[in-house]
Amino acid sequence: MNKKKVVVIGGGAGGFFAAINLAESNPEVAVTILEKSGHVLGKVKVSGGGRCNVTHACFVPKDLVKFYPRGNKELLGPFHQFMTGDTMEWFEKRGLQLKIEDDNRVFPTSNSSQSIIDCFLGETKRLGIAVKKNCGATEITKTPEKWVVKTSFEILEVDAVIVASGSSKLIWGILEKLGHRIVEPIPSLFTFNTKDTRLRDLSGLVASSAEVKINGTKLKERGPLLVTHWGMSGPAILKLSSVGARILHEKQYKFSISVDWCFEYDEDEVRETFTGMKESHPKQQLQKTRLFQLPKRLWFSFLNYCQIPVDKNWADISKKEVNKLIETLKRGQFSVNGKSTNKEEFVTSGGIDLKDINFKTFESKLHSKLFIVGECLNIDALTGGFNFQAAWTGGYLAGKSIEFD
Ligand SMILES: Cc1cc2nc3c(=O)[nH]c(=O)nc-3n(C[C@H](O)[C@H](O)[C@H](O)COP(=O)(O)OP(=O)(O)OC[C@H]3O[C@@H](n4cnc5c(N)ncnc54)[C@H](O)[C@@H]3O)c2cc1C
Repeated sequence: MNKKKVVVIGGGAGGFFAAINLAESNPEVAVTILEKSGHVLGKVKVSGGGRCNVTHACFVPKDLVKFYPRGNKELLGPFHQFMTGDTMEWFEKRGLQLKIEDDNRVFPTSNSSQSIIDCFLGETKRLGIAVKKNCGATEITKTPEKWVVKTSFEILEVDAVIVASGSSKLIWGILEKLGHRIVEPIPSLFTFNTKDTRLRDLSGLVASSAEVKINGTKLKERGPLLVTHWGMSGPAILKLSSVGARILHEKQYKFSISVDWCFEYDEDEVRETFTGMKESHPKQQLQKTRLFQLPKRLWFSFLNYCQIPVDKNWADISKKEVNKLIETLKRGQFSVNGKSTNKEEFVTSGGIDLKDINFKTFESKLHSKLFIVGECLNIDALTGGFNFQAAWTGGYLAGKSIEFD
C-alpha cells in the first residue's frame, strides 16, 4: 500500500511541532517539511535574545488567553487540549530541561535556543521526517484526490498540507486564492520613538511603576517603562504596542501619550508627600530626596524640566512649582513619532481570518486536509513566551488530528 504523504510548508516553530507530532502519532505517514530559506528554525534561534522563551508559566486556559489581543476567544478550546504545562512536559520528556524565571517566562535551563533546535532536529531524524531546505512552496492547488504543492524544484502530490509559513505574503496570497479571508498584516510588539528632552541621556533607565495612556483612545497599560536611545520600551510600552497594534497603525505611529511615572501613588498622595517634605525636611535639598521609587536621574530631569534648581530646599518650593511637578509626574505629555523594532521579540498581527479555521483541529473550514498554524493566522500575543505557545498548540492539534481512512 502506498504511504500517505503530508507536506508541512515552513520549517519554523509551528512547522516542526506539527511535523513531529504527526509523524509520532501516525508512523505510516510520510512527512516532509519544506523550508524556503537555507536554514530551519531561524526565529527560534534568535528568540528571547538567543535563549528562546519557550512558553509562560500560566497554567489556566482562561487566564492564558488574556495575553492574546488577537485569538483570545479562539484559543480557549485549543488550550484545553494542549497548554503551557503540556509544552513543558513535551520538551522534558524528550530530555530538554526547562526553568521558570521570576517573571514566569520559561526558558531552557541551558539558556540557549540551540537546545530547542537540537531537540527538534533529533526528533525529525528519529521519526524519519524529510527536511528540505531552500525549497519554498510557490503554489498550492487541489485536484479531486490530492493536494499539489509546487516548489522551484518539484511538484509534490500529497494527501494533506499543513501551512506553517509564519508571516509570508506569498503564502497569504496563495491561501487567499483558495478562498480564505486575510486580515491586513501589521507589526506588533514595537517600541515608541520620541525625541523628548526629558529623556535625553537617560537610556537604560527603568521607571518601575509607569502607566502609559494613548491620548484620545481607551488604551492604557501599566508596568515598567524602559528609556531607550530612541524613546520608550519595556513591558508597559510593548503591551500597548500589542493591544493597540491596529489603532497605532491607523495613526501611522504618530500620536501623543500621557505618562504617569508613579501610578501607585494617586495625585493627593503625591501632593501630601511634597507638603510633608516641606514640613518635615525643610532644609533638605530636592536633589537629596528620593520619592516614589523614581530613578535619581529621572527625578533630576523632571526638576530641570520644571525649571526648579536641584539644590533648592523643600522649604523654598512654591505652590506653582509643586503643581508643575505633579503635572510632570502624573500626566507627562510626550509626542511619539514612529516606532522601532523590539529586538527581543516581535510578531505580525493579522493573517488568515480566524473565522476560516476550525479550532478543534486547525483545519481550514474551506478545504479538507488543509491545516494552518502559527503566525500565518491572525493570532498574536504579548511578549513572554505566548507567541510560541500559540504555534506549539496549533502545531500539536493539527499534527495529532490528521487521519486517513
Ligand atoms: C527576534 C524575535 C524573537 C522572538 N522571541 C520569541 C520568544 O522568545 N518567545 C515567543 O513566544 N515568541 C518569540 N518570537 C515570536 C515567534 O518567533 C513566532 O511567533 C513564531 O516563530 C511563529 O512560528 P511560525 O512557525 O508560525 O513561524 P516562523 O517561526 O516564522 O516559521 C515560518 C517558516 O516558514 C518559512 N517559509 C515562509 N514562506 C515559505 C514558503 N513559501 N515555503 C517554505 N517555507 C516558507 C520561513 O522561512 C520560516 O522558516 C520572536 C520573534 C522574533 C522575530
